[in-house]
Amino acid sequence: MATRLTKELFREAQTYSQTIVNGLNKAVSPFHSVATVKSLLHKQDFKELKETEEWELEGGSKYYFTRNNSSICAFAIGKNVREGSVPNSFKLVGCHTDSPTIRIAPISNIDKAGYKEMGVQCYGGGIWNTWFDRDLTFAGRVVTYNDDTGRLEDKLWHHKNPLIRIPNLAIHLCSADERTNKEKHLKPIIATSIIDALMDPSSDEEEKIVKESRYSIEKKHLKSFLDLMAGEIDTKAENIVDFELSMVDTNKSCLMGLHKEFISSGRLDNMLSSLVATHSLLDVSKDIPDDNSVNMIYLFDHEEVGSKSDQGADGVLVKDSLERIYASFNEGMIDVGYKSALRHSLCISADMAHAIHPNYADKHQAQHTPMMHKGIVLKTNCNQRYMTDSVNSAIIRELANRADVPLQDFMIKQDLPCGSTIGPALASTVGMKVIDIGAPQLSMHSCREICGTTDTLYYHNLFCEFFRNFQDVAGSILDH
Ligand SMILES: [Zn+2]
Repeated sequence: MATRLTKELFREAQTYSQTIVNGLNKAVSPFHSVATVKSLLHKQDFKELKETEEWELEGGSKYYFTRNNSSICAFAIGKNVREGSVPNSFKLVGCHTDSPTIRIAPISNIDKAGYKEMGVQCYGGGIWNTWFDRDLTFAGRVVTYNDDTGRLEDKLWHHKNPLIRIPNLAIHLCSADERTNKEKHLKPIIATSIIDALMDPSSDEEEKIVKESRYSIEKKHLKSFLDLMAGEIDTKAENIVDFELSMVDTNKSCLMGLHKEFISSGRLDNMLSSLVATHSLLDVSKDIPDDNSVNMIYLFDHEEVGSKSDQGADGVLVKDSLERIYASFNEGMIDVGYKSALRHSLCISADMAHAIHPNYADKHQAQHTPMMHKGIVLKTNCNQRYMTDSVNSAIIRELANRADVPLQDFMIKQDLPCGSTIGPALASTVGMKVIDIGAPQLSMHSCREICGTTDTLYYHNLFCEFFRNFQDVAGSILDH
């Protein structure tokens, strides 16, 4: 039942992909990703829950909650769910909000060879060479002290203009064995020392009185950098307590190629999946079905560094929240009905996949060569790096048939180590069936990645079909 790619479908995919590109341009850090998703959910009347408060849930309603402002879960409860008529299955799409990047060090102020440089640390496994010679900036979360209230607050910051640069070494100065050293070579320059001193407003004073702030932040980071940040988040530099700021490319995400058939962006892994999952849940939640299932998305922080944290997938976040949703309709109790609901549930772990690379085609096994515009990739690894098995793949294959979504199979070459996803963590911590799928892309973990527009629409259509028809397709095959 192969789908024929038509011009109409391709045009529809371009339009849909532009929506995703708009989201990618806002989702510049895990904190911004959560804020972006939150604003989409708000527009469609999803109500915010707090984990610190009692949850009073109702069937036929839509909710979301965040943890650490870097992970987010949204869900829509079937209309038949009420006290005594508990949820009987959970349909999850799980993705991640984080991407490999370079973050500011706890003490970043470096004065070297006439430059103001910034100390950094690498987050995850990036292709660090791709961050050189780009017009970069910073984005993330800043914690401040509010003078008026005496309270701590967290704020988002994204400076939109080019601010920092990791300069390449001129080819004439390279020795034959020159390799990027993460400690030595990734520090960006932000200013020259001479101009920074010239522009310092306190430099005119005869005696410089360095006013020590409550948190001594000015001893750790460049004062003019703190001033810039403080001005943009409406605080004073001395009231900045701490921050988690990551490098971001200022070059905007866009459609590209001769036929505008590619999405070019940072963070496709895995904000593309996260945004598509969000739009799919929004679409299917316009009309919540008369059943006892719960449609959900979980977008986790910390996948790129192993998922072990209180907001990561290899923790209790999913278990906590599924139990809480179930217990809300069962006098606060978890019982055998919950265990049964888990066995009738499925989580799609949606993370990007490796398309075959024309210049490195031998890196793919000849029979497993996912291509752009040819569909969603089922990832299989019998050593359980991916959770796909014959039962959950059969369910997805049938859903894909019904939704006219082509599928492709991927298995890593046997002489290469296999990557992994949130899949194994979720399956083992929650005790539910998980399948690993993804949209094919090139340049994974580069500062700039690309994927195909058509697969982006296929991804959406498959998620919607899953939310709408999983129980019908799964039947009793998950009963044993
Ligand atoms: Zn990923």
